[in-house]
Amino acid sequence: MTGFGEFDLIRELLAPLSGEGAFGLTDDAAVLPKLKHGEAWTVTKDAMVEGVHFLPDSDASTLARKLLRVNLSDLASMGARPVGYFLSLSLSDRQGRAWLTAFCDGLALDQTEFAVALYGGDTTSTPGPLSLSLTAMGAVTRGAELRRNGARAGDTVCVSGPLGGAALGLRALTGALDPTGLPNAVRCYELPEPQIALGQALVGVATACADISDGLVADLGHIARQSGLGARISCKAIPVLPELADAMARDPSLAELPLNGGDDYELVFTLPPTVTPPPGATPIGTIVEGEGVEVLKDGRPLSLSEGGWRHF
Ligand SMILES: [Mg+2]
Repeated sequence: MTGFGEFDLIRELLAPLSGEGAFGLTDDAAVLPKLKHGEAWTVTKDAMVEGVHFLPDSDASTLARKLLRVNLSDLASMGARPVGYFLSLSLSDRQGRAWLTAFCDGLALDQTEFAVALYGGDTTSTPGPLSLSLTAMGAVTRGAELRRNGARAGDTVCVSGPLGGAALGLRALTGALDPTGLPNAVRCYELPEPQIALGQALVGVATACADISDGLVADLGHIARQSGLGARISCKAIPVLPELADAMARDPSLAELPLNGGDDYELVFTLPPTVTPPPGATPIGTIVEGEGVEVLKDGRPLSLSEGGWRHF
């Protein structure tokens, strides 16, 4: 924070982002807004470290928006209405005034987009890599929050949108693939779309829900395990970006990206078999007795082995 102290940062850049009850970040703590009758708080926290979760020298504004969005995605998976967030920044000497201004401009953009405000946090300097942490708060109808443990045998497994795009985008950004012709994939990686409206629409409808951060098989696996059941999905049914479909046609090893690429921030959820999937959602399989996630390709199960997904 060269030439720009913590109090300058709070007064000039962070205070304008603060919500009612945060007192312009002048006090020791915030007083949270009142919830509506029957609502409860749901709270989540995600950290991002330079070189681990994002590439060094990433654009500050985009980084701020991704940090907020990955947390809002967790609120979406609970069926929550987002309310606000707390922010913790561990800044290296490479984050000066211009970087911080861009970072806060990014937060302001997405605060408007998702109707949230800043309620507090902490900033410190670090001799290590840039480290960002955000705690997001949302409101759920008490007892009606979407959980991972409610899936039943025979339920339909759905996803909210195309998968594997972010993993393809990351390969383009790191130079592993030619980024030409992959603008949507790069955007998926840099600026995911938390499925807030869908999450809220699924309250009282879906039997289980999770957001896809670690990859479809891993996150659907959490739903299956928490529900004491298994899942069977069809490779062919999983929606992918046209860019990824083209890339997969050229390089079959990319076929694993929709299954375990991660960073998608779409929702995976289960519906009773009588319920029609909401607009935009795609049915990809079924909850079954047993355990684990079975992926079928051309009717035959695939298994994850070192180096990707293979036929048995
Ligand atoms: Mg999650």
